[in-house]
Amino acid sequence: AKHEKHKETIFDKIIAKQLPADIIFEDDKCLAFNDVNPQAPTHFLVIPKKRIPTLDASCEDDKEILGHVLLTAKILAQKRLPNGYRLVINNGPDGCQSVYHLHVHILGGRQMGWPPG
Ligand code: 5GP
Repeated sequence: AKHEKHKETIFDKIIAKQLPADIIFEDDKCLAFNDVNPQAPTHFLVIPKKRIPTLDASCEDDKEILGHVLLTAKILAQKRLPNGYRLVINNGPDGCQSVYHLHVHILGGRQMGWPPG
């Protein structure tokens, strides 16, 4: 159901420090932490603290947050992955989204394939 996608997720618990995570960066608007099931030697997520379930659900009012999340991903990625990296945002069922709290994946430390499967 659509409303299901607006409920609290495990990422809200990580933001609230009710669930441990390997946090690598935090400020007032976003949080970055290592993915618990890494798909590359480096795999972390940057999420807005605001609960935006999907990229689809984001709007004009979220412009500053979206820009901040992307720039934060870039700053963290370029420091750790000078040879390049991949950003991914999964959206909805066909996008393989499993956690309905908007997040950017940052993957690197190996040659990424293209196109993704
Ligand atoms: P999605 O498939 O929604 O784009 O990606 C969700 C990601 O969150 C997955 O890569 C998954 O491994 C990660 N993830 C899910 N639950 C947790 C958790 O409790 N802690 C951490 N650190 N990552 C999680």
